[in-house]
Amino acid sequence: MSKPKAGFYWCASCGGCEESVVDLAEDLLPVVDAIDFVFFPLAMDFKRQDVEALADGEITVCFINGAIRSSEQLGMAELLRRKSKILIAYGSCAHQGGIPGLANLYDLESILETAFQQTPSTDNPGKTRPLPQITVAGGKLTLPTLDESVKSLDQVVEVDYYLPGCPPPVALLKAAVQAILSGNLPPRGTVLAPDKALCKECPRLDSKPDELLITQFKRPHEIEIDQQKCLLAQGLLCLGPATRSGCQAACIAGNMPCTGCLGPTSRTRDQGAAAMGALGSLIESTEEDQIASALENLPDPAGTFFRYSVPTSMMFRKHQNA
Ligand code: SF4
Ligand code: SF4
Repeated sequence: MSKPKAGFYWCASCGGCEESVVDLAEDLLPVVDAIDFVFFPLAMDFKRQDVEALADGEITVCFINGAIRSSEQLGMAELLRRKSKILIAYGSCAHQGGIPGLANLYDLESILETAFQQTPSTDNPGKTRPLPQITVAGGKLTLPTLDESVKSLDQVVEVDYYLPGCPPPVALLKAAVQAILSGNLPPRGTVLAPDKALCKECPRLDSKPDELLITQFKRPHEIEIDQQKCLLAQGLLCLGPATRSGCQAACIAGNMPCTGCLGPTSRTRDQGAAAMGALGSLIESTEEDQIASALENLPDPAGTFFRYSVPTSMMFRKHQNA
């Protein structure tokens, strides 16, 4: 019997999700034994034409990481969707737009102007920009075009499952691969991570007070962090209450507050809005100036609460349509 075929592809991505496959370590060997990789540009020399030559639905499972911004990424997402039985949005960027999605806080023209004209290290007196098409002596050269905004994978193609995280924790990847190989998959559309908040699996939960009122949020470098105590109870902005579990509280173990990369649980539609509501209610005062003082240590609220979810956030859409 032929082995199931698998693909792995990156779109607007930092490469961390691809690296996370290597974190399977010796567990990668049985995976490589059990499946045939038919597309995995990071590790193997397959080309787009190899994918085009496959029959529709011939790839058993394809993992796509990274968000979608360019015409090339969109084209690859559509092609891989057509060729795959199961398509998995792998990592925060494919799931909710992720870090590249923060670009949606700016319009495309300002991003290009910053990147190609304004950064201190740029020397571009002619204000040259990459052109989508140019004719040179040898023929015509083309570059992918950029869309006005960054999108999550399910905003451009149908997605069967989501494996969240930045990058997804190796235990979740392992469990997903086992479920695919055994055919024991949950209903389509499921996020393949426990559907409970991170606080529930955090070893510091016992020190999280039921009632907590904060006069000022602090940043990790400003205090000597107690390694046993709930970070929120120490005034650090930890998004554990508004974030899905599944990472075994890895950042908390390193004394770093949760930044929300596993996204929301199924009971929350907008993670950033939920986190703002939950943490805003912890501020002790109702006086405007005291609230402002409690928040003054949060220089980037959008980047703090919506770090991984601007493209899928309802608040962002409202802002975009305003
Ligand atoms: S989810 Fe995180 S690790 Fe994966 S591509 Fe995006 S930024 Fe990189
Ligand atoms: S708020 Fe953060 S540190 Fe506190 S219990 Fe929740 S995840 Fe753990």
